[in-house]
Amino acid sequence: MISMTDVLNIRFDPSDPSKPRSINLYFDHYKGEPIYRTVVYLANSGCEWSRRTGGCTMCGTKNSALKKPISDEEFFAQLEIVKEYLGKFNATHEAPVKTLHIYNDGFFFNDSEIGPKVREAIYGIARSFNIKKVVVETNGSDIIRDNKTNNHLGRAVELLGDIEFEVTLGIESTNPLVRALYSKPDSVEDVKNSLEIIRRKGAISKGYVLVKGPLLTEVEAYEDCVSTIKTLQQWSKGERFRIEFQPVCLLPNTLHEYLMTLDRKDPYYWEPPLLSTLFRILKHFPTMGEDLYSALFAKIDTDSPWDFWLTRPHDDPETTYKIYLKLVEYYLHRKYDTIEAALKLVNEKLWEERKKQVAPHPLEERVAIVKKLLGLSKQNNMHLSDYLKTNLKLDGNFLDSCKNHIEKL
Ligand code: SF4
Repeated sequence: MISMTDVLNIRFDPSDPSKPRSINLYFDHYKGEPIYRTVVYLANSGCEWSRRTGGCTMCGTKNSALKKPISDEEFFAQLEIVKEYLGKFNATHEAPVKTLHIYNDGFFFNDSEIGPKVREAIYGIARSFNIKKVVVETNGSDIIRDNKTNNHLGRAVELLGDIEFEVTLGIESTNPLVRALYSKPDSVEDVKNSLEIIRRKGAISKGYVLVKGPLLTEVEAYEDCVSTIKTLQQWSKGERFRIEFQPVCLLPNTLHEYLMTLDRKDPYYWEPPLLSTLFRILKHFPTMGEDLYSALFAKIDTDSPWDFWLTRPHDDPETTYKIYLKLVEYYLHRKYDTIEAALKLVNEKLWEERKKQVAPHPLEERVAIVKKLLGLSKQNNMHLSDYLKTNLKLDGNFLDSCKNHIEKL
């Protein structure tokens, strides 16, 4: 019996490269049945894109990256701890862990982030614990490069044998302008081709789709999400493709952290998407089953569910909490419930209010300004959010103030 109450979030010293940052026990679905999954966040050097450019505007991985190379020995020490906990989880629960997510907050096939021997040790752990599926994260350029050079992906599929290998790309959106707004490292073409490469090599293609990154209104975010999932469906031409859509939450040193400090009347004031927006998105895709899900379904951290909703300005906390429970219930027992049941609880007034928010500048203009600001923050060796906090004098709405600031330089 899989139970929500068994969820665990074990944290380690985040400055120690020989310990993972955290090991988590969550619930999930595998082939239609509820299961336990283990999610490991390895101590890491930071993604190459983040180290080189400051990273994507909405990404918080830079906050936990150790910003120095992690040796194979240090990774092996981390993996010993992973083995210890997998053993404990299996010994103390009725059902063994079936899926293993190993995240290095970056590009799994990039040798400068995680070495080939470490990757092979991870596949060995999956085999020895009778794991059914291994899940990793990377980006399109990583897959394209690997396809032309080392074929680490092909080797991984070979070594894993009958264990499924799910490769997750941080797609976020298939709209090039929205991707540029987030400053993603790879092109839409690279993403499309890499999804095909992943499938061709025998792995499962999965993409993160972001709900409401910075500088998008609620409606723009909702529409972008629906259109992205439809595009991804078309690209997959009937073959299997998984999607994890991710509502953005407040993270330090991101552009949206700064945007949350604006006056609420500013059209670029940012607040997390409504939980009900996720349901509206889900409702468009009734046949995707467990291949479309949100991390929220599986994730109940130490700060949730109640505190999570109290401290984050989603829908009003009480309604949201009920929706959240419904969502979890739906996710765990989706055979017996429907999205419509949860949608009935939604506070329509909040959605109607958010629908009134209009961004006065076209997306192209927003992108052009963000690019200039990113260049300036890089020149000054600062996070974009810090650059704005230090240098931007607000005079009118956020974007007009940025334009004035740039013109005066
Ligand atoms: S979203 Fe991915 S590519 Fe972008 S900075 Fe974060 S880890 Fe790097």
